[in-house]
Amino acid sequence: MKNFEIISLEALKEGRNYLMEHESKQILAEYGLETTGAYLAKSEDEAVRIAGEIGYPVVLKVLSTQVIHKSDQGGVKLNLKDENAVREAFREIWQKFRDKGMIGVSVQKMAEPGIEVIVGVTKDETFGHILMFGLGGVFVEVLKDVSFRSIPITEHDAEDMIKEIRGYSILKGYRGFSADIEALKQLLIRISRIVEENPRIREMDLNPVFVYPKGYKIVDARIILEYAEHPKNEYTQSDLRPLFYPESVAVIGASNNPGKLGWNVFRNLLTHGFKGRLYPVNPNATEIQGKKAYRSIKEVPEPVDVAIILVPAKQTPNVVRECCEAGVKFIIVESAGFSELGEEGKALEKQMKSEIRKYGCRLVGPNCAGIINTHSGFVGSLGLLAELGKGNIGLIAQAGVYAAGFLWGLRKVMDFGIIATIGNKLDINETDMLEAIGKDENIEVVCMYLEDVKGGKRFIEVAKSITKQKPVIVLKTGRTEEGKRAASTHTASLAGNDQIYSAVFRQTGIIRARDNEHLFALARAFSKQPLPKNNAVFVITYAGSLGVASADAISLSGLRLAEIPKEVRDKLRKLMPSYVGSFNPLDLTFDQNPEQVKEVIETVLRWQGIGSIVLIMQTEKFGEYVDVLRSIDYKGVPIFAVVFGREFVMEDVIKLERAGIPVYTTPEQAIEVIATMWGYKSRFKLSEEIAGYPDIGSLTISEFKAGDSKQSRLTS
Ligand code: ADP
Ligand code: MG
Repeated sequence: MKNFEIISLEALKEGRNYLMEHESKQILAEYGLETTGAYLAKSEDEAVRIAGEIGYPVVLKVLSTQVIHKSDQGGVKLNLKDENAVREAFREIWQKFRDKGMIGVSVQKMAEPGIEVIVGVTKDETFGHILMFGLGGVFVEVLKDVSFRSIPITEHDAEDMIKEIRGYSILKGYRGFSADIEALKQLLIRISRIVEENPRIREMDLNPVFVYPKGYKIVDARIILEYAEHPKNEYTQSDLRPLFYPESVAVIGASNNPGKLGWNVFRNLLTHGFKGRLYPVNPNATEIQGKKAYRSIKEVPEPVDVAIILVPAKQTPNVVRECCEAGVKFIIVESAGFSELGEEGKALEKQMKSEIRKYGCRLVGPNCAGIINTHSGFVGSLGLLAELGKGNIGLIAQAGVYAAGFLWGLRKVMDFGIIATIGNKLDINETDMLEAIGKDENIEVVCMYLEDVKGGKRFIEVAKSITKQKPVIVLKTGRTEEGKRAASTHTASLAGNDQIYSAVFRQTGIIRARDNEHLFALARAFSKQPLPKNNAVFVITYAGSLGVASADAISLSGLRLAEIPKEVRDKLRKLMPSYVGSFNPLDLTFDQNPEQVKEVIETVLRWQGIGSIVLIMQTEKFGEYVDVLRSIDYKGVPIFAVVFGREFVMEDVIKLERAGIPVYTTPEQAIEVIATMWGYKSRFKLSEEIAGYPDIGSLTISEFKAGDSKQSRLTS
């Protein structure tokens, strides 16, 4: 048996769910970690003998089943240089703690001072074990300067965790003292592995760890155990493709009365080019909106791929059962009145779940607004929708408004491929949707609106694999803490729910949006423009102040202003006012006009050093630019338009957006979007390209392809 098991069994026998310092350190040492050690001494003489063996100076600490913060209560005696000091320290500790569950003292080497860091583990309800790292002392106590990652971590995660904290510069080198970052990385990776191998570890605090120019020492350690077996997250795998590309659809509760939801849904299905077979089900009608109606799902002549249910909540479980019996593959429950309303609704959900599990049928919702796939014409939204373009954006939303209210306006400036609302997620959840929509060949960008995540570990796996292929942008709300559990370790008290989400998003390569505006600003860019091939930005403006603002935003976001070479400058000079000195940002002044801008862009693009273009235009002249901008061959270089007061020239904005050029209000917004695209590219696409095409200074074949497919809409 390994030490971990022996030690934790002993603790269990004593009714303890935590390990004391000497036990915790023993386990860590067994895994090859560096600790100051800790030997249990039950008497003064024993303490003296151990001190003599390990060598002075030593430290004595109380070992007790009741004392958690040893030094706060005077239970830590540092830097004891001889036998007398040890005897005195032992007596003091004994005096103070003999009635407080004291089992002895730990005797250990006094460690050389180093930079204090904290490494911890906690367990999150959603994502399971989480690793934490931070600088010790005020950095963690006051500034809460810590980083988190879900366990297991990769080497890249470990490095990223260390670099993420604000105190990283202190580790790198401060007053001639620098920390062994490599050793720290290895420590994080090992802790991750220990927890993976011993899932009974619930929490852990290594606080502090001293880090040296070479190596580290764990000075204090505490492990909390958990004996409860956790139920495995249930997870049914099935191919969701027929849900998005059904050949036959039944609408139960379809209606002939405009204004009813059952009218909307069926109308949408009739008017968006759905090629499959449609069956309205309504016991009180023979015909619905011109189609033969059926009294129940059982009368429908074939087992349909998808049944949409729109009957009152109370009747829904019955209808679900009938659907299952009729061999329906997927059910979408768009009715509301379930768990979101309380116990009664929860009971209805329970019934529905047991039915679908019995038959292996899958269910979306309840309380959702349906699914939209513009590519298959399957538009089953609750909200009545006019014509929708066939786009490359996938949207998964835990809120119906994304498939109804919002879409009314959004469709004018962006085209969606698939929109899946998930409602109460009784069966199919965000992870299932991400997996399916992430794989869909018509989707190039995935957006998500989430309030919570179910089955967090699988979410992490799926997200990791999708983000490598296409960007995933998430708006997650519910950031405020809904009251923290009483935490037994420091780490647990620091691990706020929202921070864990942020950490997981970062770890999996998900881009986190601040709000809806930001989400769709990013989505428009990723869906319409190719990724920048480098971080050099070229800015064209008509006002100096906006050029300055652009330059600031560019340098603050890790991008750079492209340095225009002399040959190009010579050509540009002929196109710009004689009194303008700077070539980037290039200020064309209020004389700026579309033909001139076109020539400037074409001149600069002939030189292949530009990663992206920001074009700032005058609001009053903006309309004149649309056709000209549409006619330019951007050669795979992304372009972003900026028009102050965008909302006042919306007609032209829509035209330009439809031509594939996203329009923003301020240069800062456009540049933030570019920085995010560049960040995505650097993380996932650059290494592949460097391997395949060593010359990243010029356009690569894959770039041309990516650029072509998205920018082709410009000319068509
Ligand atoms: P607790 O966290 O329970 O109060 P610690 O074991 O962390 O107790 O000790 C408190 C502080 O004493 C540590 O933060 C560290 O600065 C110092 N310390 C503890 N053990 C040692 C040691 N072996 N060598 C050097 N300093 C130590
Ligand atoms: Mg401590």
